[in-house]
Amino acid sequence: MTRWLAEYAWLPDRAEPTRDVLIEATDGRLTAVTPLTGDGPPTAGVEVLGDAVRLPGLTVPGLANAHSHAFHRALRGRTHDGRGDFWSWRSLMYAIATRLDPDTYLALARAVYAEMALAGITCVGEFHYLHHGPGGTPYDDPNAMSAALVEAAAHAGIRLTLLDTAYLAGGVDGAPLTGPQRRFGDGDALRWAARVDAFGPADEHVRLGAAIHSVRAVPAEQLATVAGWADRNGLPLHVHLSEQPAENDACRAVHGCTPTRLLADHGVLGPHTTAVHATHPTAADVALLGDSRTRVCVCPTTERDLADGVGPVRRMADAGSPLSLGSDSNAVVDLFEEARALEMDERLRTRRRGHFTPVELLGTATVGGHAALGWGDAGRLAVGQRADLVTVRLDSARTAGVPPVGAFFAATAADVTSVVVDGRPVVDGGRHLTVDLPTELRDAIAAVTAKEDS
Ligand SMILES: [Zn+2]
Repeated sequence: MTRWLAEYAWLPDRAEPTRDVLIEATDGRLTAVTPLTGDGPPTAGVEVLGDAVRLPGLTVPGLANAHSHAFHRALRGRTHDGRGDFWSWRSLMYAIATRLDPDTYLALARAVYAEMALAGITCVGEFHYLHHGPGGTPYDDPNAMSAALVEAAAHAGIRLTLLDTAYLAGGVDGAPLTGPQRRFGDGDALRWAARVDAFGPADEHVRLGAAIHSVRAVPAEQLATVAGWADRNGLPLHVHLSEQPAENDACRAVHGCTPTRLLADHGVLGPHTTAVHATHPTAADVALLGDSRTRVCVCPTTERDLADGVGPVRRMADAGSPLSLGSDSNAVVDLFEEARALEMDERLRTRRRGHFTPVELLGTATVGGHAALGWGDAGRLAVGQRADLVTVRLDSARTAGVPPVGAFFAATAADVTSVVVDGRPVVDGGRHLTVDLPTELRDAIAAVTAKEDS
């Protein structure tokens, strides 16, 4: 058994953190969560706390990053020459994709996932579409790139939901994949499913999920094949949705309806589905998503970076869509920033304050993300849950003097001092215990960008 004594811990159903909480775990599961002070006399544990690991600051459940493309991290700081827009950004992203193979991707993803661990992320959903070798030729193991991501997460010490992504067409009109996109394609949805069926990682830290890249990349008549595969296997299904108005326009031109309507008509929506972005839904789309209890993953720092716009996030939550957060392009890896952006962006949109409570922001960053990724047993500091503990210091230049309840409005990823995943320490004293950061990040990115910068 391992025991921790948290100066403050944010317990389920509490409006604010609780002081002096004893947390116990065995075999990676929480076995007791006991406030030691409060109204009554101290409980029996107080006199035998000698062996408990002290966690000064605020301890919250593990943060879940529900939407990531690990290799986009190599683009950070490289896309702002001139007046780059979404589509010119995408060209540069393709250039990086062209240079990755299973070895360079393992090195890059291992470092990126370690950066995530340092930021308090204990579980990541990798929206993975870079499946094949140059020109689209499969590797000897057609799931070699998936295997590299599974190994990378193991090295970094975090859990992974590998959202194996069907990417079959170059546009809403079903145009064939060209150039760098050919590496993403499996031909059709049945062959996509056959490849994923052949991939069965047994590792404890990984679960599979499915993804439809977007209505741009999976022809309408094949949407149900991917959705049916996820449904039969009881796995989460994710899909990029209405990130750009251009996607809505193209879908209307070809199918005469919005992307959300198209997904609804082909059985894609539902409580096991997560729509990523949903930045430009119509009022009818918001109702379709909410009524079907489709989840929505918002990625505010990426949507900001790519000039996507601000989605009607509060309205979607009120309509019935549970929320989660993603670092997406990894231009920023900081779920505190993503969480407070929900509130801040609504303020900019509405010119009013007070849309999300601190507890809602915490829930979106923790239990909401884990649920979207198929880990219903993580994201709360409660008996039986996975022993994921993220501790944020309250004595940094950013957080000094901040009441614990205000941490999500003040802390950054740099304030995370300690991370425990499934009962195992991964970060201590603000340092990753097994991956040498930032050196490994710098080297892995140099290996795939050298030509780009020359
Ligand atoms: Zn994405």
